[in-house]
Amino acid sequence: MEFSSKLLEKAVNEMSQLPGIGKRTALRLILHLLKQPAEQTQFLSNALTTMREEIKFCSSCHNISDEAVCEICKNTSRNHKIICVVEDVRDVMAIENTNQYKGIYHVLGGKISPIDGIGPSQLNINSLVNKVKLGHIDEIIFALSSTMEGDTTNFYIFKQIKDFDLKTSTIARGIAVGDELEYADEVTLGRSIVNRIPFENSLKNI
Ligand SMILES: [Zn+2]
Repeated sequence: MEFSSKLLEKAVNEMSQLPGIGKRTALRLILHLLKQPAEQTQFLSNALTTMREEIKFCSSCHNISDEAVCEICKNTSRNHKIICVVEDVRDVMAIENTNQYKGIYHVLGGKISPIDGIGPSQLNINSLVNKVKLGHIDEIIFALSSTMEGDTTNFYIFKQIKDFDLKTSTIARGIAVGDELEYADEVTLGRSIVNRIPFENSLKNI
């Protein structure tokens, strides 16, 4: 792609670093910004810079938060003895949208995936196991996507907590194998949390 301006080229190159954005789409977005008032670009770049500099991860559940402890963990009307284990913040948002779950979360930050070079130590697994060891947890709900990586991660965690006195469950699989949680509709996802099954029952599928 030949550019008539180095400034334009640099902006397009940066934009095209984003997933799903090729050079052509990046050019279209940048040209769109050029047609808008200059403040629009200012608002966008300010929002991104401030978000990147000030955003925090909850010290308890690792959810993305504006404060050191997130709103969900701070909420005393939620059941802090039930922890729903999810891959990332998009899953927290999807489950919150169902209005069917009043426990708290634990955000792993990914799934065990040797192909991608992601091992257990790169995920927030130790802090979850430590919470279980402290003994204040009644139930752990595994709500990772039903892929091989999701199942591997569930099982890895299950092995470390199975000897403690708590229930382990997994969301009911109305959700097809391989589906990502965030794409499940709210009713289906809500039902799959309410109708969760003991984790051991899911093991025969591995
Ligand atoms: Zn939190």
